Amino acid sequence: MPLQIVHHPDYDAGFAVNHRFPMSKYPLLMAALRMRGLAKPDALWMPEPAPTARLKLAHAADYVDQVIACQVPEKIEREIGFPVGPRVSLRAQLATAGTVLAARLALKHGIACNAAGGSHHARRAHGAGFCTFNDVAVASLALLAEGAVENVLVVDLDVHQGDGTADILKDKPRAFTFSMHGERNYPVRKIASDLDVALPDGTGDDAYLERLAAILPELSGKRRWDLVFYNAGVDVHAEDRLGRLALSDDGLTAREDMVIGHFRKQGVPLCGVIGGGYSTDVPALAARHAILFEVASRYA
Ligand SMILES: [Zn+2]
Repeated sequence: MPLQIVHHPDYDAGFAVNHRFPMSKYPLLMAALRMRGLAKPDALWMPEPAPTARLKLAHAADYVDQVIACQVPEKIEREIGFPVGPRVSLRAQLATAGTVLAARLALKHGIACNAAGGSHHARRAHGAGFCTFNDVAVASLALLAEGAVENVLVVDLDVHQGDGTADILKDKPRAFTFSMHGERNYPVRKIASDLDVALPDGTGDDAYLERLAAILPELSGKRRWDLVFYNAGVDVHAEDRLGRLALSDDGLTAREDMVIGHFRKQGVPLCGVIGGGYSTDVPALAARHAILFEVASRYA
């Protein structure tokens, strides 16, 4: 079976090429997936913007309304890291809906990936750290509310701590949040996940994979998970501009194989989202994000 992939051309909000947020990684990732033969037309899905009511499951109603109306207060826009104009607003609605759709596809097919998502710094009250809406939190709460799942696990391996997801899901006993991240990285004030592992600067493949291998069985021992959201941020890579860790391409491949293989062997559906990755060499960055899809395809 081909891997089910969710994508939308408007995931790219068209920022200037020198913007701190490498927006062009989204179309370049799709180009990389097509080149590798991973994006099959009959397994490609396009989301519609997420309904407002669904976004409000995870976010304060006034903040959601501000984003939809493109009237986010400047102070919050500064925390997000860019102004929320029409394209950013649409992009946030689409990327969030994309993760909801990918989660549904994962429940049906066992595995699916959104070619965006992982906006894990957006908390209940407002967005932050390049994140407008928290797609994984919205998708978790939507599927729990519908009764499509009973227990959801978030495995967040982006190099930054998943503070927004922890904030939104902290009082939801049916959603368990796990974050493994760089200790000295953003956010300065972390919001505790259900389980956090903080890694020192410069952590490389072996130490990283060893920690992860020890934790995955622990996570599986907690409950019978109906769905795993996997934030496969590639900002753990040695060449990432913000990451401070030192994984190689092979290390990333081994990580994706370890996580996906672990849950798929147990029959737990997995929804992958791409998370963070920062580089001025955007084609190289897109190739790093493509690793998730390459490995996921082997389990599709
Ligand atoms: Zn990150």
